[in-house]
Amino acid sequence: MIREGSEQNMVKYRQAVWDEPLLIELSRKGRVGYSLPKIPEKITEQIDDQSRLIPSAMTRSSELELPEMSEPEVLRHYVRLSQMNFAIDVGMYPLGSCTMKYNPKVSQRIARNPNIANLHPYQDADTIQGILSILFELERMLCEIAGMHSFSVQPAAGAQGEYVGALIIRNYLRDQGLECKKEILVPDSAHGTNPASAAMAGFKVVKIPSSATGIVTAEAVKPLVTEKTAGMMLTVPNTLGIFESEIREVTNIVHDSRGLMYYDGANMNALLGRVRPGDMGFDVVHINVHKTFATPHGGGGPGAGPVGVTEKLSEYLPIPRVTSSNGAYNLEYNKSKSVGQIKSFVGNTAVLLRAYCYILSLGREGLKLASEQAVLSSNYLLSLLDRQSFSPTTSNGIPAKHEFVVSESPLKKKTGVSAGDVAKAILDQGMHSPTTYFPLIVNEALMIEPTETETLENLEAYAKTLNSISKKSNEDKDTVLASPHSTAIGKLDEVRASHPNTMILNWKGILKSQQPV
Ligand SMILES: *Cc1c(COP(=O)(O)O)cnc(C)c1O
Repeated sequence: MIREGSEQNMVKYRQAVWDEPLLIELSRKGRVGYSLPKIPEKITEQIDDQSRLIPSAMTRSSELELPEMSEPEVLRHYVRLSQMNFAIDVGMYPLGSCTMKYNPKVSQRIARNPNIANLHPYQDADTIQGILSILFELERMLCEIAGMHSFSVQPAAGAQGEYVGALIIRNYLRDQGLECKKEILVPDSAHGTNPASAAMAGFKVVKIPSSATGIVTAEAVKPLVTEKTAGMMLTVPNTLGIFESEIREVTNIVHDSRGLMYYDGANMNALLGRVRPGDMGFDVVHINVHKTFATPHGGGGPGAGPVGVTEKLSEYLPIPRVTSSNGAYNLEYNKSKSVGQIKSFVGNTAVLLRAYCYILSLGREGLKLASEQAVLSSNYLLSLLDRQSFSPTTSNGIPAKHEFVVSESPLKKKTGVSAGDVAKAILDQGMHSPTTYFPLIVNEALMIEPTETETLENLEAYAKTLNSISKKSNEDKDTVLASPHSTAIGKLDEVRASHPNTMILNWKGILKSQQPV
């Protein structure tokens, strides 16, 4: 799919990156960005003595080549680079399924608090009572929010939470003498991590086809459930942004065959304070706190995917468990049924701390309001879109939840402008594109999740942008196809940009890319 004009764009890309000089090029011998008192001779002598202990074969013979720069030059370099990027703190970022929420600055401040940030993971439990009490309380809060018996905050991401959940299901069934149960049912609308996690835990994945209205029906599930069925993974609301209305029937079918129900709660934004997976009959759940409870997580991290379970599964949670007795908190490793330690130490504490702040600062009513506003924003934005170009995947009057998916196929058929092209054109308006081409069951999918904090004006501006791109595609599609025009880097050739022969990974690559490829 090398596009027309891609050669120019590749040149433009090199130019943009090339125009921003590299640190090594800005460097001038002897230029410094610090002013420190001179090191006393006695100390330099000591350092020299110590260095002599290093075998000469291991010491460098020439000086380390590092950029030498003044402080303002370094600052300007990084600020210029940051301005070539997009962030939630710059504009609307409605990346469906990823939930790019506004990250309250108070949580950031608390996560940076040196009393917490400087703790060492090998400190004795009696010296880290504060953070242990926070993790313990957070587990209790998540139990209440999800309606589960116990939680472990250890998993470092949603995918890792799913893997832990799948291991718990596997080990529990094994202990029940149900080793014949080797299959996990996963809907075709699921996030790709679901089948991957189940497969990593040793299960065979059986795909459930979604109904015409985009949900998992009892009718579709019934014929797939056998004595081999270990369980089912279900995302609610599903990735089309629709509530799974046949949960009870589906759960009964799986439980009747002694399988377990797994709830993918990566995004709980539509449900906070309203319904709980535990009450719906789920046995295992994970929540992406970096999505649902805010945390900056661009570019793939950092995250945390706590896992919650019902009482009969609680002994299987990962170790160490954060425990409390007589007002003292401890880390307990001695749990014979546990699936083991899944992540170093207790988990991504900085992310967990932000989730704790978010939950506490919003409170019971605030969380309910956040989910209400997330759902309202999503439905309002959907109602403003031009349906001739963006066809909704919710039908029969079913409202969308915190996010919605439209198919851009009508516009593509008429003009040749694809969902990917629309996404690039949005960037020219200073807004981030939605998730594109996911879920896989929708052609030319645009998945939009505005979140709870966008103002009415922002929602209207986003709809206006999409509608005007549709209008422009009909009038002057070449301009749309060549977007973005206003970003630091124009449209890339997706194949060349990611092909090992043409990919540029470091400054040596940029130098090489000056030569014809
Ligand atoms: C994001 C997401 C995941 C995976 O979570 P990671 O933290 O990225 O591993 C799983 N399921 C759904 C529905 C998601 O949106």
